[in-house]
Amino acid sequence: MKKSVLIIGAGIGGLSTAVRLLSKGYDVKVYEKEKNIGGKTNQLVNYPYTFDLTASILMNRQIYEEVFRESNLDYKNYIEFIQVDPVYRCFYADGSLINLNRDLVLLIKNLESISKEDAIGYIKFLSDVYERYIIANEHFLNNTFEEPIDFFKPSTLVNALKTKSLSSSYDLISKYIKDERLQKFLLYQSLYVGISPYEGPSIYSLVPVVSQLYGIYHIKGGMYYYVKALEKAISDLGGEIRTDSPVDEILIFDNKAIGIISKDKEINGDIVISNADFPYTMDELIKDNSHKGKYIKEKIEKMKYTCSTFILYLGLKKKYPELNVHNVYILR
Ligand SMILES: Cc1cc2nc3c(=O)[nH]c(=O)nc-3n(C[C@H](O)[C@H](O)[C@H](O)COP(=O)(O)OP(=O)(O)OC[C@H]3O[C@@H](n4cnc5c(N)ncnc54)[C@H](O)[C@@H]3O)c2cc1C
Repeated sequence: MKKSVLIIGAGIGGLSTAVRLLSKGYDVKVYEKEKNIGGKTNQLVNYPYTFDLTASILMNRQIYEEVFRESNLDYKNYIEFIQVDPVYRCFYADGSLINLNRDLVLLIKNLESISKEDAIGYIKFLSDVYERYIIANEHFLNNTFEEPIDFFKPSTLVNALKTKSLSSSYDLISKYIKDERLQKFLLYQSLYVGISPYEGPSIYSLVPVVSQLYGIYHIKGGMYYYVKALEKAISDLGGEIRTDSPVDEILIFDNKAIGIISKDKEINGDIVISNADFPYTMDELIKDNSHKGKYIKEKIEKMKYTCSTFILYLGLKKKYPELNVHNVYILR
């Protein structure tokens, strides 16, 4: 008999997990508390405008394809990727702009117009961080560190040192780049995760490098089409998504999750997966302290959260040809 999986939350995480497990022969049901699926990756439609609410572009396109490929589905039947070029267009307070193009010839021309020294510095920066990315990919990014001891294996530590990611982004970037505008463009990336580039580890320098070397894409129709594509794949593979179905509790017996309670109904499953935020899951969905490990209420309340963003969704009557898909305004 098929093993049953109950997934709490129909965000991109819950939906892609559902697709992968369905293709491996599990019986999967996704429970979403909202009326629509997608979680943070959602859409605001206000005719004639349609906005992606959060995610609008993506890096590491192969990860998005992989969900389909590993489930024996052809992603081309579900989504279409469109390359973003320039990868970034940066506007500055003094009225200048820098285009970081995909095309190396154009890129070098743009960088040389800043200075030959910065052009050389940028290429060296790409090459150095690329090397770290290859090490990080092999030893960290695709590994699950299930126990702390896994991280402290000698081979892992040696490779962690090779990535030299413990110094700050500023220390790393200022070694290669002298132009303040180019520096600021490379530095702002760690703000995505709410970390100061002057204090946080330089690991976030991977973001502009991976974007530059592997490209940035958007999805035809907007990022919400990826959510719709996952929904279709779940239906094609025989899974089920229940919206308007909040989960109130994860049932645990003998140290094992055995089901959920949703709308006062007990639903049993062999495996329970929570796609909801981790602190919320521990605090709200697991009721008994003895099953929370160290994540009891007091610990959750003491956790520090990084800040998010302030977003305006503007429907414009006029076209602004100087704007591209991925624009960054650095005004200080
Ligand atoms: C401002 C902003 C901009 C971003 N831009 C980008 C970008 O350009 N590119 C990019 O790749 N990423 C971007 N992201 C990140 C991306 O949006 C998120 O990483 C992604 O949407 C998270 O998906 P998730 O499935 O992990 O979580 P979520 O989307 O949070 O999904 C969790 C789901 O669980 C549901 N849920 C919670 N509790 C319960 C319950 N008790 N019962 C049932 N259901 C429940 C929620 O309703 C939700 O649907 C951005 C994020 C923000 C905030």
